[in-house]
Amino acid sequence: MASLVVQTSFLGDVVLTTPLIAELAKRGDVDVLTTQPGAQILANNPAIRNTLVYEKRDRDRGLSGLMRTVRRVRHTGLYGSPPPSTGDTRRPENYYETAYMAQGSLRSALLALAVGVPHRIGFDTSSGRAFYTERVAYKPDRHHAERLWWLSMSDCADPPLPEQIRPRLYPGEEERRVVDRLLEDAGIPRPYIVIGPGSAWGTKRWPFYPELAKLVADHFPVVVVGGNGDVMLGDTVIAQLPSGRGLNAAGRLSLLASAELIGRAAALVGNDSAPQHLASAMGTPTVTVYGPTTPEFGFGPLAPQSATIGLANLACRPCHKHGPARCPLGHWRCMRELSSRQVFETLMRTLSTAETA
Ligand code: SF4
Repeated sequence: MASLVVQTSFLGDVVLTTPLIAELAKRGDVDVLTTQPGAQILANNPAIRNTLVYEKRDRDRGLSGLMRTVRRVRHTGLYGSPPPSTGDTRRPENYYETAYMAQGSLRSALLALAVGVPHRIGFDTSSGRAFYTERVAYKPDRHHAERLWWLSMSDCADPPLPEQIRPRLYPGEEERRVVDRLLEDAGIPRPYIVIGPGSAWGTKRWPFYPELAKLVADHFPVVVVGGNGDVMLGDTVIAQLPSGRGLNAAGRLSLLASAELIGRAAALVGNDSAPQHLASAMGTPTVTVYGPTTPEFGFGPLAPQSATIGLANLACRPCHKHGPARCPLGHWRCMRELSSRQVFETLMRTLSTAETA
């Protein structure tokens, strides 16, 4: 019997679901229903049999898109592979015994119900919980990777070891080749430091990465990662660096190639955002800069020798689950009062801990 993992949340959540997937793969086949970026980041994962894409806000939006996805998932569960373009005459071999609802929306719950998966397990706090057959306690004081991992365990199981809840990504030969060429063309030697200055939420973007990059460039080359929307931000970060000391790779790499680039770095410095999860999955020491959110929400770095930094005594912190678009108080002190020197010193301490580990 196979399992279906439903995870159509943000990219970081998809990365944090990989320990759950690895645990389930010890028991049988695992298929994953996720977003297009999620499918890209999960490529080559040896624990996954099939990755199915549900573009809930694009191609598959609305009821017709939902039902089309239901048919695709049902076929994959029955036959062990996605529907071919021509008629399929194979006999059904296996079916999903359990759906693990790593994403807890009502829509996802209805999808798993419509697919016909008999056991549907999710958190007792999720919007779709009325349609689950088993509700697992959401543990607010644990890392989210651990919370997701508990979906596969009974309450009496031993807590996981750190290695059991560390996410994993699997860049392949193509990603290695692309990163080799990128670094070689730019003349960037190892060791280098990766900076991830972007975030989908405006208040989570620490504004002093250009100053930090100047401090770092006296010791290491700096490489910026990010998506297409971070290209201008990346240009700003490396603008004042001497020739050969900075490279803006934002918008130039696939998600898995970005993971490969991060995996080769001495450390990553970034916001409470997707790059820190890529670093966790690649085991790269991480410094995460926190503003309106805190590590206690359960989304901090998991790589060994990682650190977090944020203003400890600011009464308005944290102010939002994700980080608002604008500071509701107008002053944005949580980020503006964190200096580049403080973050640089945290990075240097992290590097020296990693060296002696
Ligand atoms: S209210 Fe406080 S924690 Fe929230 S964005 Fe403003 S300064 Fe940061």
